[in-house]
Amino acid sequence: MAYVTAVANQKGGVGKTTTAVNLAAALADAGWRVLVVDCDAQANATSVLGARGSEGPVLFDALTARLPLSDCIRPTPIEGVDVVPASIDLAAADLELANAESREFLLAEALAEAGARERYDAVMLDCGPSLGLLTLNALAAADGVLIPVQCEYLALEGLGALLETVQRVTSSLHPGLALLGVVATMYDGRTRLSQDVEAELRRHVPSMFRTVIPRSVKLSEAPSHQRSVLGHAPDSRGAEAYLELAAEFEERTGLRMAAAV
Ligand code: ADP
Ligand code: MG
Repeated sequence: MAYVTAVANQKGGVGKTTTAVNLAAALADAGWRVLVVDCDAQANATSVLGARGSEGPVLFDALTARLPLSDCIRPTPIEGVDVVPASIDLAAADLELANAESREFLLAEALAEAGARERYDAVMLDCGPSLGLLTLNALAAADGVLIPVQCEYLALEGLGALLETVQRVTSSLHPGLALLGVVATMYDGRTRLSQDVEAELRRHVPSMFRTVIPRSVKLSEAPSHQRSVLGHAPDSRGAEAYLELAAEFEERTGLRMAAAV
């Protein structure tokens, strides 16, 4: 049974998509079958995974027209990783779905109908930069939420609101949702700021991953080659970091490679 992870933070540019895609690739590298669902109208994960402009229905169709989500799944250039593409239509999904019945559970239902938990070992929901209906759908469909936080000034700002939202979802919509953890991203060990922010996060956030994702040019280059960092620069520090995060992910979810056998 797949573990479903929402990769969420209402701040943009903190490393959500980078984390969703590279963690998926690192898990696939260990033999897992992974589905990435792009829940962001900007469709960055869709581009990175080579599915932008591909033929066929996309997440918007599954949510609004109730088309089977299984018809939206595309293979990607990364072995073991499939994707459900997003499209710009998703920007209007909040409005479009405002009056839909059980509107917070559309994604959970679509994943269940597609048998995603049976077909995959992990499902990554790459959220957009908002706490709107799509992100609520991702949280309501997830077993755990993984929160990337950029090692920058004001890193903690907004984290409170996000953790509150997670709390709210846990108490009112989906008691099964766990806080999988917070991961520090774009860490630059040469700067005092990064060191201070990381220390502050560790003081205030009890669920920090030990792994810290370094700021790395290889990580920012990989998407333009439609590769994960593991395919683009397997010996880089960025690749190492995501392999380490994947190992910690296995630890925390209690899932082992055996699940894939
Ligand atoms: P989000 O999905 O939260 O908006 P992204 O993952 O798209 O954030 O990252 C924002 C930008 O920062 C992208 O251009 C990405 O390539 C770059 N980036 C993300 N993580 C790193 C990192 N660890 N080192 C260097 N660049 C990074
Ligand atoms: Mg993104």
